[in-house]
Amino acid sequence: MDFFDENERNKDHWMAAELILPFFPDDTRDRVTITVQQYNNIVRDKLRKEMGLRLADKESRISVPVRVVDGFTNEVVDVINKFADQIRWLLIGAKEKLAGAKEGLEFLVEHWWQLEKWDRLPREARNSVSALETSLNVVNVLSKISEMDQVFDGVKQIQKDILGAYFPGVGYRFGPPRIEIYWMAIGLFARVAGVSIEDLTVAALVHELGHAYSHVGRDIDGRVWEDSGFIGSDLEVVEGLAQFYTEEIAEELRPRAPGVLLAYEALLPFLAPPYHAHKRWKEVLAERGVANRCKETVRYTLIRARQRGAIKNKEWEELLVQTCQTLRT
Ligand SMILES: [Zn+2]
Repeated sequence: MDFFDENERNKDHWMAAELILPFFPDDTRDRVTITVQQYNNIVRDKLRKEMGLRLADKESRISVPVRVVDGFTNEVVDVINKFADQIRWLLIGAKEKLAGAKEGLEFLVEHWWQLEKWDRLPREARNSVSALETSLNVVNVLSKISEMDQVFDGVKQIQKDILGAYFPGVGYRFGPPRIEIYWMAIGLFARVAGVSIEDLTVAALVHELGHAYSHVGRDIDGRVWEDSGFIGSDLEVVEGLAQFYTEEIAEELRPRAPGVLLAYEALLPFLAPPYHAHKRWKEVLAERGVANRCKETVRYTLIRARQRGAIKNKEWEELLVQTCQTLRT
């Protein structure tokens, strides 16, 4: 969620882009754009059913447009530019490839004594054990650099969405609610998390639309979450909701797109604690023996919470427990 349109595409954004773009597939932007077009309505349909909320005004027009844009959030730009070293980013981008090379070389070193004895081993492959060991050593050293702990410790501190943004459009300057999806951020995190660009795009789209539905989705009585309530609520509640529904929808999309759930899960380790709040809700409900009614409980709790206005995480969890008691009786 993002309150203000502060992502001016300034020179810091382009410096960050220059560092990481060399290791992107050339068609990254197109792949993100096409995926958003393909899944926009599918995801909206699923969220409408899951959340029991409709994202349409009185004239039933589709609201909250989604746009794929260049650049990143400012916080991601800061993390990238902190390590302004193109080779380092090249290695980070090659993380999966290095892991594959490591695995292959380990296999060869382990079995080389058998291969060396094989009478059909091509001549140019003979007497290679020391070359293989040297290569393995090089890959190991480079893999450690590409493990990027320091780089991504910075990402985990970001208390904001990193792949997209929901602009709630509060205040006359900001226009109606809208969503931006950052294709460069998706390209980067797809690579470091080892998932496909398409799958991560869908996960990002569900998350941002999850914010839109939570905020301006109309319930059966036509009510939305008042702006001040949505904006004033704890990050755990707002992000927990978006994450909860991303997980639910990713599960539902499994027969059609099994990778979306994997992408959602692979991104979790890079996200700040509020983005894990929904896991705790699930534990709370499981402790009360209602894990199987989780969806229903969260949906009713959301409707009740929206009527209260701004809500703290503690209050949300109490409401969740209360709701589950009501549903049980
Ligand atoms: Zn979010």
